[in-house]
Amino acid sequence: DLKLAAGMSRLGTESAFVVLARAGALAAEGRDIINLGIGQPDFRTPDHIVEAAVKALHDGAHGYTPANGLPQLRAAVAADLHRRHGTEVNPDRVVVVPGGKPTMFFAALMFGEPGAEIIYPNPGFPIYESVINYTSATPVPMALKEENGFAFSAEEVLAQITPATRLIIINSPANPTGGVTPKAEIDKLVAGLAAHPQVAILSDEIYSTMLYGGREHVSLLQYPEIRDRLIVLDGWSKRYAMTGWRLGYAVWPEALVPHVTRLCVNDHSCVNAATQFAGIAALEGPQDAVDAMNAAFDERRKVIVEGLNALPGVRCADAAGAFYAFPNIEATGLTAMEAQTAFLEEAGVATVAGTSFGRYGEGYLRFSYANSTDNIREALRRIRGLLEARQ
Ligand code: PLP
Repeated sequence: DLKLAAGMSRLGTESAFVVLARAGALAAEGRDIINLGIGQPDFRTPDHIVEAAVKALHDGAHGYTPANGLPQLRAAVAADLHRRHGTEVNPDRVVVVPGGKPTMFFAALMFGEPGAEIIYPNPGFPIYESVINYTSATPVPMALKEENGFAFSAEEVLAQITPATRLIIINSPANPTGGVTPKAEIDKLVAGLAAHPQVAILSDEIYSTMLYGGREHVSLLQYPEIRDRLIVLDGWSKRYAMTGWRLGYAVWPEALVPHVTRLCVNDHSCVNAATQFAGIAALEGPQDAVDAMNAAFDERRKVIVEGLNALPGVRCADAAGAFYAFPNIEATGLTAMEAQTAFLEEAGVATVAGTSFGRYGEGYLRFSYANSTDNIREALRRIRGLLEARQ
């Protein structure tokens, strides 16, 4: 007889976790499952980062920290952003949170309410639409198309802005497509936003260190003209293989820092102190483990893109960033969900249906290549067998 608040039924989820659970259940039955479903590096966190957390615990980092994060950590983030993007960021604009996700929720809570419109990538990370719906704001999907390398079209996004638009969410390199938005498109979007000073931007740059084929990341921090309405989300989860540590941050406009800090105080008080020391070690220590992980991802990327393109009925765009390939499977005659189910149940390969990332994901399947090249080759072999048997 419990009566839940209406917002609970509007909250979505991340289907990758459902696939993970099913893959785990099949594996428990003794099936040999290759997991290309989950979006996390298959590497361990580099040892010197783990050691820093252990040392912090021994040294007595057992209490609360400031809600917005340790000052040393926020300074390390600002220095890292300067090194990577050449931008000066005041550490007071950096707010440390438990992972990438809280920043999305906080931004949605800050701007979303009935009547407000929020533009977000589709196909895109499913949590964007979920948290927008939670606030009762209207989700306005920006359609990301294969023919544009899954980058947004600035012209189309600008045309979607109305007087009710409060926030635009963008994500490059992107989940689930691996797409990277070219600088020219970002330039155009930023220029067009001059006419809409009421619109804030959340740029999810969690994959900012994972670009391949000589591509360079363009951070929205490089556009000072929007600094008063720009939120840049980034973190440690993907870059340092730290998904389970729960550590992330965002750079906020100065005027919004007190608001987001109050959300932190109400929500989680602060991030686990030892984890924050690990975060400092990650940013300030040697980066060779990160380089090695990225080199491995690049090699796997080539294997999977080439392998997918060689499958009957499958066409895969060059995956430019993150660790996802997002092939078009329409010509197999399977819908995205049918392919997800058949590949997992019949071939023992976990992938995620494109429709889990929004309606524009129909006809596509997300493959995470955060797995060994041997496993990727074996997964492709099994899928080939399945597709050929169906022809
Ligand atoms: N943003 C994007 C685009 C992601 O793909 C993910 C994780 O899959 C996140 C944010 C969330 O990262 P975290 O695990 O740090 O919350």
